[in-house]
Amino acid sequence: MNSRARARGVEGDAGLDFRRNLAVQMLENNLDHGLINRSPIRAKNTRARASISAGEGTHAIMNRPYFTSKWLGSSWKKAKDKYHKTPCACGNHCRTHCLCDKGKAMCVECFNIHILNV
Ligand SMILES: [Zn+2]
Ligand SMILES: [Zn+2]
Repeated sequence: MNSRARARGVEGDAGLDFRRNLAVQMLENNLDHGLINRSPIRAKNTRARASISAGEGTHAIMNRPYFTSKWLGSSWKKAKDKYHKTPCACGNHCRTHCLCDKGKAMCVECFNIHILNV
């Protein structure tokens, strides 16, 4: 008698677990949808803040990809360091450049001057 009751009890727990897992899965699905809905808004905000439309072209401070040193015209020259820095015209070392000229390293300070002068 006892053993049969225990067996039924286990079965009941398994059913509960199954329902609980289903609930978790549904919750996770909802979270996924939330992320998908949120991402386009974030992308739009970032673009608006990072770039300034000034006359002929768009200027924006850009980070070089990891493990690159300079732009070779059609591809990046590879570097050993993940955050390899190259000298800016002012002497600062940086990993940034303006969107208008990948080939020229430009630190944030020079970028601020650059967008005022174009
Ligand atoms: Zn520029
Ligand atoms: Zn500079």
